[in-house]
Amino acid sequence: MSNPPTLTELTEQLIEFRDARDWRQFHSLKDLILSLSLEASELLELSQWKPADDFESEAANEPMQQRLKEECADVLLYLLLIAERTGIDLQQAAADKVKANALKYPVEKSHGKSTKYTQL
Ligand SMILES: [Mg+2]
Repeated sequence: MSNPPTLTELTEQLIEFRDARDWRQFHSLKDLILSLSLEASELLELSQWKPADDFESEAANEPMQQRLKEECADVLLYLLLIAERTGIDLQQAAADKVKANALKYPVEKSHGKSTKYTQL
């Protein structure tokens, strides 16, 4: 199996796919964000009405594993299109956010707690 593409390569493939179909005209920033939310909702829908523990078990096996994979991919692809449109370096933005979260949630105050940082 070959190595998976980088986020940059994936974005290039996605733009090529979009432009070959002349779909750029339908991809306003607003509609890309709306589509991201819809795909995230499809991911959420997979767990609807299922107890948390049952869903964890189901997610570890087919066919749910495949359905999760497909919806996660849909979310990522719209996120890449949004990042490309807005000039956001997703990997840097995510790395910055991890650092910011570490400052907001110091281990000594947040270990084992689900409390929001404003309440720590
Ligand atoms: Mg989908």
